[in-house]
Amino acid sequence: MKTQLIAGLLSLAIIPGCGQSPSEPTKPAEAPSTTVKAADQNALFENFKKRFLEELWANNPTYGVYVGYYKHDHEMEVPNAESAKKSIAFENKILQQLNVFDINKLSPSNAVDWELIKNQIESSQWYREVFKSREWNPSSYNVAGIFGLILSTDYKPLDERLSAISSRLDKIPAYYRAAIDNLTTPTLEHTDLAIQQNKGALGIFETSIPASIEKSTLTAEQKKAFQPKLQAAVTAINGYITWLEQKRATLADGGAKDFRIGDELYEQKFKHDIVSDFTGKQLYQKALESKAQLHTEMIRITNQLWPTYFPNTEKPSEPLVAVKKMIDHLSAKHVSRDEFVNEVKRQMPIIEQYILDNDLIEMDASRPLVVRETPEYQRGVAGASVNAPGPYDATANTYYNVTPLDNYNDEQAESYLREYNHWILQILNIHEAMPGHYTQLMHANKSASLIKSIFGNGAMIEGWAVYSEKMMLESGYGNNEPEMWLMYSKWNLRVVANTILDYEIQVKGLSKEDGLDLLMNQAFQERTEAEGKWRRATLSQVQLTSYFNGFAEIYAFREELKQKMGDKFNLKEFHNKFLSYGNAPVPVIKRLMLTDLGLN
Ligand code: ZN
Ligand code: ZN
Repeated sequence: MKTQLIAGLLSLAIIPGCGQSPSEPTKPAEAPSTTVKAADQNALFENFKKRFLEELWANNPTYGVYVGYYKHDHEMEVPNAESAKKSIAFENKILQQLNVFDINKLSPSNAVDWELIKNQIESSQWYREVFKSREWNPSSYNVAGIFGLILSTDYKPLDERLSAISSRLDKIPAYYRAAIDNLTTPTLEHTDLAIQQNKGALGIFETSIPASIEKSTLTAEQKKAFQPKLQAAVTAINGYITWLEQKRATLADGGAKDFRIGDELYEQKFKHDIVSDFTGKQLYQKALESKAQLHTEMIRITNQLWPTYFPNTEKPSEPLVAVKKMIDHLSAKHVSRDEFVNEVKRQMPIIEQYILDNDLIEMDASRPLVVRETPEYQRGVAGASVNAPGPYDATANTYYNVTPLDNYNDEQAESYLREYNHWILQILNIHEAMPGHYTQLMHANKSASLIKSIFGNGAMIEGWAVYSEKMMLESGYGNNEPEMWLMYSKWNLRVVANTILDYEIQVKGLSKEDGLDLLMNQAFQERTEAEGKWRRATLSQVQLTSYFNGFAEIYAFREELKQKMGDKFNLKEFHNKFLSYGNAPVPVIKRLMLTDLGLN
């Protein structure tokens, strides 16, 4: 499951870069020379970061609104050549300014920020110059999200937000003209997605915005002024849909781009999106090894448990079939649908006490986690997620949102409860809350830095949550029950299979049939989940590997330190120190930590 924060991070990948507005006077670059003292370097770097972010939001107002920076909410970017030119100038300027700093004189926290900004700029350049998804991914053009966000977020009075919406509406026709200009060779898959999603976008302009205008206290004249703008927006979106449908008909006869990006682009994208000491291929091989190990373990546990649960049934001769039968049997142990939210509330203090009793990681009683039912406006699919405070609102509560199963029929509820059964529900709570996402974010907030919140590394954040599951079980959580380890293995197999699926689809041309076989027969997933995963893996690249990558790197690093430190290694100290660097990529944390411990 993703945290709210991750949704923000993911959008980074499609931010088409940053441009400097020519109307804004360029401030003379402060030139900190390498001879200045460390304290001065840090002070200068703090100033640089402030200026960088202000310019970033001025040039990317929509991105700003997504992270809670509302100053430029009334401006909207048009993805044309002119804005690309601005981005290039801005990025070159920032890279030049970064190069003047001596990273060895920066504090560890600033050194991480320096790396994150550099990665972000280089990534943005690569997306524009090499990956060029603007030319082949029609679903990267959709204005609904930002209008919906401004409409539903109460950051200022409705009338004022409608004024921002009014200014933005003026740009919609130019926005879609630029989209059509950019799209030279779409893939069929992304074209279908774009048609579907842009049809879904119409409701915002035909229904939601008009309803809000009605509710507002604008004058009749002001209200009326919206009508032609809304009409033009709807016409532009419909025009885009029609153009895509015609394009699709032509492309179906040949000429569409393959959605598979191939080996070379995959490795480059992996480098930019994940920031790992592994290559994409190395991680894939690691995932294959993990799958084999997990299977061996699951078969061993199934053999051990078989006589207990199936005293009168012969074990299937195919080992993985026996494993699946055992998992199906155990999955019947779950709470009733009405007890789902209460059960999460009941478990959290128990898990917290376990962490304290076993001295696993520092907790902070002054920043409690609030478990609540997911607010109505956030309910899409059922599930659980951590609602972390945004970067510009860091002291707000952290919520653990759990969605009750009210909207499910009996069959859907049963299927969901079997998935989040007695054992998996505990692992989910560990992942989402303690010592997973909630605990990690709490530690990250201590070295609060806007740069780390905004450009935080998704592989590190998800990897930590996945690492924390295994760490808890290894420490004895669940009393080493074989059933718990079997369910954990199934759960962990999901992130392993995601990595294999992503690489094999994008690089090795895996067929859908073989993909579904991997997910259903080798990772024990239901057909619905497997089909959904296949679709996601054809529309995205690399992102599915981030969980396993972060997990594998953190785990390997811990084992490496154990080796190096011998008796001096302390698990709690390792966790506290590891998390003190904030949401940085694991390789960056490793480097800084080894230096700090005098071990490299
Ligand atoms: Zn997660
Ligand atoms: Zn049941």
